[in-house]
Amino acid sequence: MSKQKSASAQTSVTAILVINCGSSSVKFSLIQPRSGTTLLSGLAECLTTPQASIKVRYNVDIDNQEQVETSTLVAPFDHQVALNTLVNKLVQLNLVDSIVAIGHRVVHGGEHYAQPTLINTTVKKTIEKLAKLAPLHNPANIIGINACQQAFATLPQVAIFDTAFHQSMPEKAYLYGLPIKLYQEHSIRRYGFHGTSHYFVANQAAKLMSKPLEQCNLISAHLGNGCSVTVIKNGQSVDTSMGMTPLEGIMMGTRSGDIDAGIIFHLVEQLGFSIEQVDTLLNKKSGLFGLSELSNDCRTLETVMLDKSHPQSAQATLALTVFCYRIAKSIASFSASLSELDGLIFTGGIGENSSWVRQEVVNQLGLLNFHLCEEKNQATRFGSSGDIAINTSRPCWVIGTNEEWVIAEQSAQLLTSNSAGKL
Ligand code: ADP
Repeated sequence: MSKQKSASAQTSVTAILVINCGSSSVKFSLIQPRSGTTLLSGLAECLTTPQASIKVRYNVDIDNQEQVETSTLVAPFDHQVALNTLVNKLVQLNLVDSIVAIGHRVVHGGEHYAQPTLINTTVKKTIEKLAKLAPLHNPANIIGINACQQAFATLPQVAIFDTAFHQSMPEKAYLYGLPIKLYQEHSIRRYGFHGTSHYFVANQAAKLMSKPLEQCNLISAHLGNGCSVTVIKNGQSVDTSMGMTPLEGIMMGTRSGDIDAGIIFHLVEQLGFSIEQVDTLLNKKSGLFGLSELSNDCRTLETVMLDKSHPQSAQATLALTVFCYRIAKSIASFSASLSELDGLIFTGGIGENSSWVRQEVVNQLGLLNFHLCEEKNQATRFGSSGDIAINTSRPCWVIGTNEEWVIAEQSAQLLTSNSAGKL
């Protein structure tokens, strides 16, 4: 694309365009890594369906000036059209000249990538090959990379892998109890996800303790629609609850998390399920949604649980109770990886906002000396953060995650160290 000369003051400031391309959505943000300011952000969703839409917010971090626009494009449209719309908006706002690189969230880096990586033809081919481990995610990431290479042909593109932070896991944590050849010949092992989020909140906790991250021992619970717990020893991930795919581990919004693998044989052999139906059941119809038969949304379930006159109140309570027990069990089991523990971190939409879930989880962690202060726990929601434990407890921090900022920051750092960019 041709770059437009700008009269805007903002164009003199370098920024990274962060792209998170999913199978039917594109999330994007334009972030100044130095200040952390978000100039523009947005979401295109339901792509390639008649409900396709795109929403752009700009002047995001500029007080009282935020603008929100919903595109008038006629649906259906695809990723390329969504990204072209973004490019047009950036041109219109004189922001194109400020962009020095594109940072892409890439879900699966397998064992190939433990660091942010400049995308070239070889890297793209490897991401494509890794689609066999992440068939829903990596192909969508490639669509985003291709679309951005077309739109911003001269700019460096950086891949930040969701699996990268967990590449420090030792063999004993990443191997399944399966024949070793399945690992050696087919890469079947645990990889873990949400790495960027766990890394970010661990860093923030280190800052709160005024300690270098390398000296911190933490357990971090990322609780959103997808949920995972990670144990961080001396600043590095040494185990995490998600495995070869994001299905393993604690129960989630619509994913079952851990189940007895024998249930799959039972579903197929005794109940006549096809493999595709099992896949849909475990990934899309289980978890909070499956148990409550009401919603995958924690907020909705809490509202119904508290409304005792609601006919599904008991079922909502049951779903949330199982959810919290499984999180507490995961946190407690991960303490086995540590000889010291500085504290527990809650993050993600649920971790940052649901005081009920946090209380219910921590109530079951008394043996690890975690005890919440009810007042602080209630008060810490909707963007506030901090330690919500009583003074005699180990710290329990609520920390807002910011994966987009990490992608911007790590892309900028890579370009600076490679001198490939102009930061
Ligand atoms: P994603 O994994 O898609 O990024 P989020 O991190 O945004 O998801 O988390 C979404 C979850 O956070 C939903 O279950 C939602 O109900 C929950 N959530 C958001 N706000 C609240 C709140 N105030 N109370 C309870 N749960 C909340």
